[in-house]
Amino acid sequence: MKQSPDMARLEQVLRSGRIVRGGFLGTDRRPLAEIIEADRAAVTRRGLTCERIAGRMAELTAAAMGRLGTWVDAGGGLQVRAEEHKGLIVCPWPHPARCRKRITTARRSETGQALQWTDLSIHLIGKHAFFQGRESAFRMEPDALIDFLGLTGEATAEDAGIWPTPKR
Ligand SMILES: [Zn+2]
Repeated sequence: MKQSPDMARLEQVLRSGRIVRGGFLGTDRRPLAEIIEADRAAVTRRGLTCERIAGRMAELTAAAMGRLGTWVDAGGGLQVRAEEHKGLIVCPWPHPARCRKRITTARRSETGQALQWTDLSIHLIGKHAFFQGRESAFRMEPDALIDFLGLTGEATAEDAGIWPTPKR
């Protein structure tokens, strides 16, 4: 896939450590457009949207904000904890968006499996379908994230047998 010059410039910013130490792309050598397309496709295959996933993450962060620094039961077998740091962080995309420097940890009570995200992660997923690069600090694999959050999508028309069987 050919990237636009704007996308190439953005990729440079994301690879650099200008906004976060180590950058947003980790060891991922794929072009930015390809990373985004692959993750968006994974989300679509599950019958979900990036907005829906980000919405659930934002709800969990909001639940954790009630009691900063302590585990809060968020329902659905999840516990969440948030910590906040001073200052704001800007979105690397060329538009004015700033996020609080907040880290949310969520864990499944049964298994102890935990995931961590920042407010910026939520924004990047919801607005830019960007789950960050492989082996970057806050990379989220769409499938693993969807399973962890317990989200289920709309069955596709094909799965649900909505398409009429062609008559012979
Ligand atoms: Zn943005």
